Formats: sequence, C-alpha cells, structure tokens
Amino acid sequence: MSVETQKETLGFQTEVKQLLHLMIHSLYSNKEIFLRELISNASDAVDKLRFEALAKPDLLEGGAELKIRVSFDKDAKTVTLEDNGIGMSREDAVTHLGTIAKSGTADFMKHLSGDQKKDSHLIGQFGVGFYSAFIVADKVDVYSRRAGLAASEGVHWSSKGEGEFEIATVEKAERGTRIVLHLKSAEDEFADGWRLRNIIKKYSDHIALPIELPKEVAAVEGEEKPAVEWETVNRASALWTRPRTEIKDEEYQEFYKHVAHDFENPLSWSHNKVEGKLEYSSLLYVPARAPFDLYQREAPKGLKLYVQRVFVMDQAESFLPLYLRFIKGVVDSNDLSLNVSREILQKDPIIDSMKSALTKRVLDMLEKLAKNDPDQYKSFWKNFGQVMKEGPAEDFANKEKIAGLLRFASTQGEEGEQVVSLAEYLARAKEGQDKIYYLTGETYAQVKNSPHLEVFRKKGIEVLLLTDRIDEWLMSYLSDFDGKNFVDVARGDLDLGNLDSEEDKKAAEEVAKSKEGLVERLKTALGDSVAEVRVSHRLTDSPAILAIGEQDLGMQMRQILEASGQKVPESKPIFEFNPAHPLIEKLDNEQSDERFGDLSHILFDQAALAAGDSLKDPAAYVRRLNKLLVELSV
Ligand code: ADP
Ligand code: MG
Repeated sequence: MSVETQKETLGFQTEVKQLLHLMIHSLYSNKEIFLRELISNASDAVDKLRFEALAKPDLLEGGAELKIRVSFDKDAKTVTLEDNGIGMSREDAVTHLGTIAKSGTADFMKHLSGDQKKDSHLIGQFGVGFYSAFIVADKVDVYSRRAGLAASEGVHWSSKGEGEFEIATVEKAERGTRIVLHLKSAEDEFADGWRLRNIIKKYSDHIALPIELPKEVAAVEGEEKPAVEWETVNRASALWTRPRTEIKDEEYQEFYKHVAHDFENPLSWSHNKVEGKLEYSSLLYVPARAPFDLYQREAPKGLKLYVQRVFVMDQAESFLPLYLRFIKGVVDSNDLSLNVSREILQKDPIIDSMKSALTKRVLDMLEKLAKNDPDQYKSFWKNFGQVMKEGPAEDFANKEKIAGLLRFASTQGEEGEQVVSLAEYLARAKEGQDKIYYLTGETYAQVKNSPHLEVFRKKGIEVLLLTDRIDEWLMSYLSDFDGKNFVDVARGDLDLGNLDSEEDKKAAEEVAKSKEGLVERLKTALGDSVAEVRVSHRLTDSPAILAIGEQDLGMQMRQILEASGQKVPESKPIFEFNPAHPLIEKLDNEQSDERFGDLSHILFDQAALAAGDSLKDPAAYVRRLNKLLVELSV
C-alpha cells in the first residue's frame, strides 16, 4: 500500500445520490449487469488511449498490449477489474465519478415518482453506468492514472455509495484504471471464476479487446502456488467486422447496450458493409425508447466513428440528419484519415455521400419495421414520431419516403392513437376522392368534435386529426403524397370536388342565392371582426363556423410564433353559417337590428370557442348572452 497524500472527502452531486439510491433499489433482479457496465467503460478507455496514442505514441509507455483483466478473491469477497486504457487524473475522477454531466439530469430526476416499479423503468432511459457497481458492492475503490502523467500522480477514489467519496493522490506504476469491488455479504457469489466467465460471455463477448480471467489451476498439496496464468474469455474482435450471418441477435443487442449506453434492447438494427468507391461498414440501431434528453439541444447525438477499426470520436453528428438523431451505432470508414476532426467532417464531400446513404438505410430499416411488425412500429412512433415529423422540412430529398413513415390519428383510426399511414388513408378513400383531408388543433378531444368535420361525417370521408404542436408546421412542408394534395378542412372555401354530386352543387348555389340578404346583414353586424361572410357547405348540425383564409396562419403557427416573440400578421376569419339551422332561420327573421347584432356576435363567439380559440372580449359575450336569457325567461 503506497502513501496517500492530499486526502479529502467530497460530497456527490445531488443527482448522483438520487441515481445511486434508485439504482440500488430497482436493479436487484438484474445485478450482474454491473460487470457489463464496468467492462464497457474499460473498453471506452482503451479506445480513447488508442486514438490519443496515434498523435502521442509515448502515451503507450511501452505497454501496447491493450486489455482488460478481471480477477476475484473469494476470501476477501472482492472482484477487481483492471484496464490499461486512458485512465483518469485526480480531477477526472472527481468530475466523472462524482457528478453527472448530462444536461437535463436534474429535470429528469424531478420526474421520479418515488414508486420503485415505475422509476426502475425510467432508469433504463437514463443509463446506469459506473454507479451500477454499488448494486453489488458496499464499497468501491478506484485506482487510476491518466496516461502521460507521472507514476506519482495516480488517484485513489473510494466510496461506500452513501453520499460522499474520498479522494487521494497515490503512486500508481501502470497507466489505466483498477476498480476493486468489495462485495456486499449477500453478493459474494460474484467472487467466482465460473460465474464471472459466464457473465462476460453473455454480455461482453462483443468487446473488441481481450478480457482475461485467471486460469483455474488446481493447487497441488505441499507445493507453492503457481504464478497466475491469464486466459482470454471473450471473442475479442470488432463485432461490425464480422459477417452478418455469423452474428447472433443477442450479440447485436449487447453491442447496442455498449455503444448506446442504454439499458434495454434495441427495437431494430441494420448492419452493412459498403465496398466500391467508398468503403465503410455501418451498424445502426433504433432504440426501443426515447432517451430522457431527446429534446435537449446539447444532448449527445450522432454515431461512434471508427477509421480502419480505430475509434476516432463519439457523437459524430455529420453522418445523419437531425431528425434521425435518436439513431445509435457505429460507422467504420476506410477512406477517412485517422486525424479527421469534426470541422473536416462537416466539409468533406465523402461525408455527404455517406450521410445520404446512411439516411436511406435508416429510412429503409424503419419501412421494414413498419411492414413486418406494426406493433413495434407503433411503439417506435410513440417514442420518436414527433422527431420524425421534423423530417420533411429538413430532408427535402427524402420527403416522400418520410411521409410514408408518418402516422396520424384520424376520424377512422383507433381513438386518439397515431396509427394511420397515408397509404392506408388513400387505400380506403372514397370513390372519386383525390385529396387527403386533415384538421389541426390543440387537443384530440377538441378536433374530434369540431364542427368542421360535420360534412365529412355525413359523407363518410376520413379526416386526419393533427394535434401535435409541430403538425401545422409539418403540413406546411407537405403539399402532396402519392399525387394527392393535402387539404386543411378548416381553411378556405371547402371544395369537395367530385365528392359533391351535381345536384348537391346546384342546390347549394340556390340556397346561397336565397341568403344573399342575410349575408349582407351579417357583414354589417359583424363588421371588422370578419374577413368575409358566406353560406357554409361544411355544416350539418352547428349554426356557424369560422374558417381560416387560404393564405392565413393557423392557430398553432400563430401561437408558436407569438411564443417566440415574433410579430404575427393579423388575420381575420371567415364567418360561415348553416342556412338550415333553426337559429339561423330565426336570425334571418329577426326584425330588431339590435337583437340581430347581439345574436350574430354570439354566434361568432361560439364558433370561435368551438374552434378552441379564445374570445377577444369574453365580457361582451357574457353580457349579450345574459341579455337574451333574460328576454327568454320573461
Ligand atoms: P458513460 O460510460 O456513459 O460515460 P459511466 O457512468 O459509465 O458513464 O462512466 C462515467 C465516466 O467515468 C466515463 O465517461 C469516464 O470518463 C469515466 N470512467 C469510468 N470508468 C473508466 C475507466 N475504466 N477508465 C477511464 N475512465 C473511466
Ligand atoms: Mg459507461
């Protein structure tokens, strides 16, 4: 034991304490994953060293044979992991093992309910990492030295996982990290060669560098214990370099957990090798669940980049568009230079063609998932649909392909669920229907009952119901699908085209003619509040409705722009009335101009309310309504 200097005790960041508590209490049925996490970290550390050593070969300090060693001591009840990777300085240990750097962590922790069952589900979204050591250990010692630092600048980090850790400077001869787990008394089964070997085979076979265990050598009575011999227990080759047909699903799944730092199995993956003008391999995964920080701007995204098997960088963002930022995986190029930088990646034309090929791979993989496993695709859509909706705006070239992957709620789909594809919509469209109809709004309940749908219900025409905040913006980028135009049913002068019979049209024209007088009176009464007044052919039950002008912004867009502090051009609605409604007939027969005015304003305000809009002058609405109620009760 060497001398420890500059010893101090520090507290964990609050979030670490919460995470530790949650982890210890929720992962008891899956304890063995601690080894996978620690091996994953050791492998990352070796990757980083190998990369840094390209520019600074001295970092290897003569010990170029990179590996991980796992050993155990049955009597002392310890398991020890040792790697000769990049290591940690004292400062590294304090930040990396004492805080969680992920943005949005505090927010995430607030969402924990205290209900262990529910929360243990959330931990999957967060990833467990180093702290999983405390699932099986009641004390963890980490001895580490950053490659390139002097042997005297080693660090000893130690904690019982109870809110604080000790840190001291120690002598450490070899670079890299040694982690000693002092097992809880109930967990001493892990101090066993057979057990450790099985766990490594199960979870870490895909790790590209050797993981060694001490060879079991039977002790011979009376003889001195022989020196430890080590043997490699994993396959120790980069998974993506092996032929697809030889890789088992479990291997793909465990590799995913390592690269994605995820806890759950992925939904799907696509493994490819490209040869020809460009040479690269890619292994891309669709996660099963959205990470907690999917909408954080600084959240990690992008692929792990290797150049000729050598790890070069994490989170290489240039290989996929933003709307596919949830995809995880690796890309290994034979064309790039080993000293490629993020800046170079952004400009390199090689990257552009790789990006479009990889994007297509992902879209193909999603198409396949949708086709072969609609239930899984439904779950995918729940998690990532909102992000996919950014696609048509960002990726013009793949617009039609992305549109095919979109799923919507509709008047004929499952109640409120986004499950209807555009292809499905068109397949069951009415005879003669050459449009795709949709309605946007704040909530499903609101659009489902919107008066705008009355005529569609009557004619049995399906309407897509769009209530995500991004939907109106999305629709501004989609003009057609499969040659059929999109039509917002709340916009303009609804023309049902072939869906209206000649007789219908003729009858409507005649009614409109007979109501010209009423239209003029309403125009005078409503004055500045409306852009236009006309007879509606959208309504069967409601007396009146407000339509949006053909070129005007819809409510969602208006709200988004207003929220971002932009000045929004004023636009007035079109007031449409239902000539067959008794209230409208009453209005038409009203002699008193004052009463006519009150009634028209009430109808106008009601139409705004039905559309989910707020009233400009709610007090006036109440006053007018009460006036009528009083008259009624006399
Ligand atoms: P993650 O692996 O997702 O970054 P972890 O909790 O597993 O999170 O690890 C936290 C950090 O601690 C790592 O990012 C790394 O900086 C550091 N670390 C952990 N184990 C090692 C190791 N064996 N060698 C060097 N650094 C390590
Ligand atoms: Mg980790």
